Amino acid sequence: MKKILFFGVISLFEIAISFAQTHEIKPITPNQKALNSRSDTIDILHYQINLEILDFTNKIINGNCVITFTPKINNVGVIDLDLLELNVDSVFLSSNSLAFTHDDTLLKITLPAVLNIGDTASVTVYYNGSPQTDNSGWGGFYFDNTYAYNLGVGFDANPHNYGRVWFPCFDNFVERASFEFNIITSAGKKAHCNGLLVKDSIITGDTIVRTWQMNDPIPTYLACVAVSDYATVHQNFNGFNGNIPVELVGRAPDTTNLKNSFVNLNNALDIYENNYGPYLWNKIGFVLVPFNSGAMEHATCIAYPRTAANGTLNFETLMAHEFAHHWWGDLVTCETAGDMWINEGMATYSEHLFTENMYGRAAYMNDVKNNHKEVLQFVHIEDNGFRALSNMDHAYTYGRHTYLKGASVAHNMRAYMGDSLFFVGLKAIQDSFQFKNINAFEFRDKLFASTNIDMTNFFNDWILSPGFSHFSIDSTSVLINGSNYDVTLFIQQKLRATTNFHANVPLEITFYDANWNKFTTPIVASNQYSNATVTIPFSPILSILNEANTLNQARTDNQLVIKNPSSNQLQNLAMLRLTVSSITDSALLQLEHHWVAPDSIKNNINNYRISSNRYWSFNGILPPNFKASARLDFDNRSTTGFLDDDLLSVNTDSIILVYRENAASDWEEYPYYTKTKIGSLLFGFMTIDSLLLGEYAFANSPDAVSVNEQKELFQNNFKLFPNPTDNHVFIEEITLSTKNYALDVYDLSGRIIHQENFVGKTKINTQTWRKGNYIITITENSKMVFSGKIVVQ
Ligand SMILES: [Zn+2]
Repeated sequence: MKKILFFGVISLFEIAISFAQTHEIKPITPNQKALNSRSDTIDILHYQINLEILDFTNKIINGNCVITFTPKINNVGVIDLDLLELNVDSVFLSSNSLAFTHDDTLLKITLPAVLNIGDTASVTVYYNGSPQTDNSGWGGFYFDNTYAYNLGVGFDANPHNYGRVWFPCFDNFVERASFEFNIITSAGKKAHCNGLLVKDSIITGDTIVRTWQMNDPIPTYLACVAVSDYATVHQNFNGFNGNIPVELVGRAPDTTNLKNSFVNLNNALDIYENNYGPYLWNKIGFVLVPFNSGAMEHATCIAYPRTAANGTLNFETLMAHEFAHHWWGDLVTCETAGDMWINEGMATYSEHLFTENMYGRAAYMNDVKNNHKEVLQFVHIEDNGFRALSNMDHAYTYGRHTYLKGASVAHNMRAYMGDSLFFVGLKAIQDSFQFKNINAFEFRDKLFASTNIDMTNFFNDWILSPGFSHFSIDSTSVLINGSNYDVTLFIQQKLRATTNFHANVPLEITFYDANWNKFTTPIVASNQYSNATVTIPFSPILSILNEANTLNQARTDNQLVIKNPSSNQLQNLAMLRLTVSSITDSALLQLEHHWVAPDSIKNNINNYRISSNRYWSFNGILPPNFKASARLDFDNRSTTGFLDDDLLSVNTDSIILVYRENAASDWEEYPYYTKTKIGSLLFGFMTIDSLLLGEYAFANSPDAVSVNEQKELFQNNFKLFPNPTDNHVFIEEITLSTKNYALDVYDLSGRIIHQENFVGKTKINTQTWRKGNYIITITENSKMVFSGKIVVQ
């Protein structure tokens, strides 16, 4: 399933808070294996659910459930079933009324005689009442005047499986059974359930009964019912195994939009069959429900928010996600909630795979990179810590690691295995574990068995441990080798939020010569320091590690080919703003934001404390006369993920910008920058006045205000500095255009103190002014382009 947000502008901070609130109050984690252990006593073969869903006023369901089972051990005299809150009238085996107790969660039924291995019996439980929704607001059984439907998972429920809100069952991920549903409705309403509609008949007047059969075995959380005055759009797709009927179900006014939003569903089928294997279910079904917070992958009858089927393709990755569950989750199911990454991480990755096959590799990489930035920046905040994907705490089963980091790591699995074997391995898992459950170790071992690629390191490093690896090139040395060149790369590994260096990591190095000829070669790295020698056809002037982002690591980046000047352009992944003021020929810029500590300062005579979180590196091939500036934000706001918490936890006064050309040189305060604090927030920015290639980081200076610190006003491409001042201020238009500006300075009584016209930049002498505040305005053709306050000390 997937949680989504539709309405309003909700900041990530608010999402983080709502996650924290809903998850922190949860009960302690149960032994998840224990939840499965009841399935060792009896095996449920079949549920026949016979329900009246007629009373929309009191929101009551009424009926019975026939549970057919066979003992897995001898001498079974009592069976336990989950049933939440509903009233149990009676329990029968054939015509025998059975003794039972029901404490609102557990229904205990005493059999008339013990049953043994080989026996099969059916008990019928008669029950009624108003079914529950989950405390989290996500999952359970929903009624309004028009619709009644279930969502088979409760985000806060324990166990999460939520069949028990509407029928007696074993709620866990491993117990699978076939289903029949006989649902009685009236007043034009019709029921849709898993499987195929085998009977649709009138009982009396407008009261009807519809019979649905689901012969493929599913866990209880995938069983469903949805009732409304539905209309069905019937389609037929050609799958690997032949014709597949498609049912797109919504109320009549919604069906046109539904069709339009699902035009690529057939493509999704092709994409997943090609990459994961054949669609093994007997129907493809989506049914619209008035639930705005997500969708639920009920097998062959996905509950889908009607607001997401709005006629556009804006939400089609949600369609792709839910449909992908018919491979990951529904067909191959996580053994316990602790391995929910197998359901949800793989379904989220399938969104990217859908995008790749629909819209191309660049669109795929865009999704992968943006998803991974979200992982690096926010997921540990929203999930209260860096978490391993496997053996996830119950409170975070449906947390952001499971979905987003799960997808990031699936991309890495592909890098470790290579494209073709990755999909060979996934198909083998689908084939071997169809209609079964799986855990992380079985997943790992099946990949090995099917491809002969040992995935032990990958699983240890990415699935069983938290955090991220990070690799960078410290230096290179080049030797001529005939007409080729032997390049030795010295590689450093750093770690973010984990303790063990990743081993046998597949990396790619891309080399450039001065004419931008490019040569890419794979290497494998382990340990903190490693080296590799590769032979390439030219002497490189630039080396980039993982230029194509085949592997997600603790780095986000933007690569730019620049041909024209630009102003203050956001590079979201590199986390900076770039202004190119002068360019004569094309420039190649690789801008990287590293989510690990920079190397320490070798000779720290000024006693700086360098960031423990992050640094930037700028590499590239720059033409002569290239001139650029960049803005780097320092930021300890919750909305951006406490990026500089280590440096800004007190205030912004002592933060400085340090620079080194490369790993061989040492960090020093960068000589050409200005610092701007914004308001009283722990936020502001450094403007690198003249961008040099190399590495940049923030540090604390022990001096409260460093010698180079200049506070400046920055507005509409104008900056004013230093401010406060005692003898002069500079005013500079960043783009240094040829426009003519009029500048006026007033005192606080409105008297004009100074006037001039300028182009590009100017310097105002303030030595003779009285101490105090002054207002400055800049206008162009009578239109104000800048206004601010100068403080003369
Ligand atoms: Zn999902």
